[in-house]
Amino acid sequence: MNGPVDAPWTDLYPDGVRADQVGGAETMLAAWDSTLARLGPDSPAVHYFDRTLSLGEVDASAEALAASLQDLGLRAGDHVAVYVQNDPHWLITMLAAWKCGGAAVAVNPMLRERELAFVLSDSGARFLVCLDELYPIYDHVRDQIDVEAVVITGPTNFGVRVKSSVPASWESADNVHYWYDLVTARWGTTAAHQPLTGDSVALLTYTSGTTGRAKGALNTHRGMVHSCRVYAAWFSLDEGDTVLGIAPLFHITGSVAGMGVTILTGAPLVLLHRFDAARTLQAIQARRTTFTVAAVTAFIAMLNCPDVDRYDLSSLTKVASGGAPVSQATVDRIRAATGWRVHGVYGLTETTSPTHLAPPDHPAPVDQRSGALSVGVPVPGARVRIVDVESGRPLAEGEEGEIVVSGPMVVPGYWAAPEESAHAIRDGWLFTGDIGVMTEPGWLFVVDRKKDLINAGGYKVWPREVEDVLYQHPAVREAAVVGVTDSYRGETVKAYVTLVPGASAAPAELIAFARERMAAYKYPRVVEILADLPKTASGKVLRRELRERQGRIS
Ligand code: AMP
Repeated sequence: MNGPVDAPWTDLYPDGVRADQVGGAETMLAAWDSTLARLGPDSPAVHYFDRTLSLGEVDASAEALAASLQDLGLRAGDHVAVYVQNDPHWLITMLAAWKCGGAAVAVNPMLRERELAFVLSDSGARFLVCLDELYPIYDHVRDQIDVEAVVITGPTNFGVRVKSSVPASWESADNVHYWYDLVTARWGTTAAHQPLTGDSVALLTYTSGTTGRAKGALNTHRGMVHSCRVYAAWFSLDEGDTVLGIAPLFHITGSVAGMGVTILTGAPLVLLHRFDAARTLQAIQARRTTFTVAAVTAFIAMLNCPDVDRYDLSSLTKVASGGAPVSQATVDRIRAATGWRVHGVYGLTETTSPTHLAPPDHPAPVDQRSGALSVGVPVPGARVRIVDVESGRPLAEGEEGEIVVSGPMVVPGYWAAPEESAHAIRDGWLFTGDIGVMTEPGWLFVVDRKKDLINAGGYKVWPREVEDVLYQHPAVREAAVVGVTDSYRGETVKAYVTLVPGASAAPAELIAFARERMAAYKYPRVVEILADLPKTASGKVLRRELRERQGRIS
């Protein structure tokens, strides 16, 4: 069969995947309702350590939470921030927000005070669901933000109030509520459901995008339904599958390829609070998980487990890795150690996960010039152009330029950021800031980045933010942060610093200073003190020169 002239890559699609595979349920909530109706309330929804929550339990918890949040004033269009780990509370809160006609704000549980305050005030979240151990971070910044009600929950005794970890001072704050109290108070009742459409925002997912400031990408219900359907069709997923949810749920990969796929297909989701390689191997064997999308660092951590060959990992046959480059050598190492065939996936927060997937039945080619392994071909509904970085002129096959994409998965913009939205998305085309090459019949290779972003094992670090924190140290005169090669994270964060005349600060002190003030994946792992930073004649720091100065640090 020959694919259409303008989409010849569809010849490579797995059986049953069609180029026009768009549409379906209009909202994620409608998809959830139809899964619940189709499979019934007793079907498993989440496996959380040794506990299994059924679709019915998740739905009843979400109804009760939604009704209680409405009692507290939640209205259609409101934002509910979720600041928990990979716990079932994420899924339940997201469903509760949707039932009330609201959206969930994804908050990375690694964020520290300054970062949390920014996300909560920028998103205008009126409600916050917060893990008990993270509450002190919120407590530090509560005066700076307008959250009306905080719902504290505990990871262990699911649904049960964990009194031991709740000091009396928290109880005295008048906007503090307990998950357990809210859910039990309204157990068995339903919320006053508010209408949603495909254009309604399902998630605000914070990302640095192509420019430095963190912004809330507006992931719509339509975009999310589309991307979940793409994963489900590509990997032929249904309720007989089991999803291994190791990608963080606050990241678009975890919310779409994890929670979203479960919502759409009814395949139960395995959640493990935080990623731990050995515990994940045990869960794969015990739950016979079949599908996962995760950062390559997670697979590397698992293959490096000393007793990896003791586990039966054969159930995991539908595996994809994205968010950061994956080499052919790494794919081969993972295959040899675990038997898993890792397929490429490319996408961004702004594309609600995939725009490209590697077809399971066709080996992905390697670009001879750059050595990059192809990330796959455009998924159904994705349109892709490679354009000249300066002029925006479309380039021919084989030419290197910026990857520009459009389709139902592309967000309409960022929350309350009209300028950044207009810059990133022009006439529905998202300018990704990634440099790529496309070859016949549609293979994409990601070969470089236009943006200064550092990609530490899939976690994106914006140099400017790290530099701003270093500048708060009294001995720092100038700081320039770059990504340097790291054998585990792919890239890691390095800071070059010059000191104020007469001042002194050892690299270890500057590292500790930054570490206290930012999420663990962001602080510089290496600091080098220089007499001067290399600069252009106009005084601009030459980042490329700094990057080239340091090949490897490990
Ligand atoms: P995020 O918004 O966190 O999902 O980050 C999106 C960025 O991750 C993209 O713009 C790329 O720079 C990078 N990325 C995503 N998938 C891949 C991939 N398969 N190979 C290389 N880089 C990738």
